[in-house]
Amino acid sequence: MDQREMFFTPQGVQSDIRRTRHVKEIPLYAITIIAGFFGIWYLLHQLASETNLLEDLKKLLEESGANSSPGIAVVIGIILFILSIVGGIGALVVFLITYLVMLYKVYADQMSYSIRVSENNYPEIYAKVLEYSYLLGWRKPPEVYVQQMNGQLNAFTCWIPGRVFIQLNAEIVDIAYMEHKDFDTIFFVMAHEFGHAYLHHVQLYYTFWNTFVNFIPVIGPYVLMPLLSRAREYSADRVAQALTGGKNQIECMMLLAAGRHAYKYTNVYDYMAWVDKRRFSGLERFARFMVNMLADHPIMPYRTAAILDPYRRSGKLL
Ligand SMILES: [Zn+2]
Repeated sequence: MDQREMFFTPQGVQSDIRRTRHVKEIPLYAITIIAGFFGIWYLLHQLASETNLLEDLKKLLEESGANSSPGIAVVIGIILFILSIVGGIGALVVFLITYLVMLYKVYADQMSYSIRVSENNYPEIYAKVLEYSYLLGWRKPPEVYVQQMNGQLNAFTCWIPGRVFIQLNAEIVDIAYMEHKDFDTIFFVMAHEFGHAYLHHVQLYYTFWNTFVNFIPVIGPYVLMPLLSRAREYSADRVAQALTGGKNQIECMMLLAAGRHAYKYTNVYDYMAWVDKRRFSGLERFARFMVNMLADHPIMPYRTAAILDPYRRSGKLL
């Protein structure tokens, strides 16, 4: 058994993955949880000011004579406390149900419009699904679906209770069965999606806590969440590298930039030399900085640079 074969064991891959989560992902995740509480406070504050809730409560207390009778004030206080607890739990339950409805809609979409990868449909891809599941120590492989998305080169992972599923857009699957017969690039894309699932990026218990950060105007949806998302993308790329040994990792990046036909005719080193920041003026670099800051995936030069240097556990976030 050579060194490379030894590496591709569940123990080897999983110990490699332990060192691959982006170094800023967990701190950013913690920040978004804290920001999430601030988001809830902001939401309640807006709700109170828009509905005159506090004014109405004050009026109610005055009318009930609570000011002159401490006993009535205590009773009203207890009732309000119980009502706020019940209201809070109710709001949480409604939020959870809405969240799950959204997730099940994504799964229903797979059941309605996709082809499930199986022994008979895309068997080469199915074999990799089993291999990656084995390497990651999963007893239940994720369901992988193929769906045409009118030219969009993309893939995603999603979760519903008891099930992880992955969608590979047919436009990506084409590269394995059309002119290039390139399976390894698809496998890298798929391994990246396995990475999201392995690092719990899609499971409710991970995503729930930072969802509320979106309630904070501007900063939440346009700064904090994209920042965390970019860190997760770097982490998932590192998992893909551990699962695939980095095979066709650059082709994968070139595919995303140049599309499923021309990507085979690109030279990554020429590309990286051109995007080197020293070639651009300050204003041009600032414009690119803004594009990256608002993006939920790191821009291509940063992502490619991190892939070329996989053991930094990093990647440029800003
Ligand atoms: Zn991703």
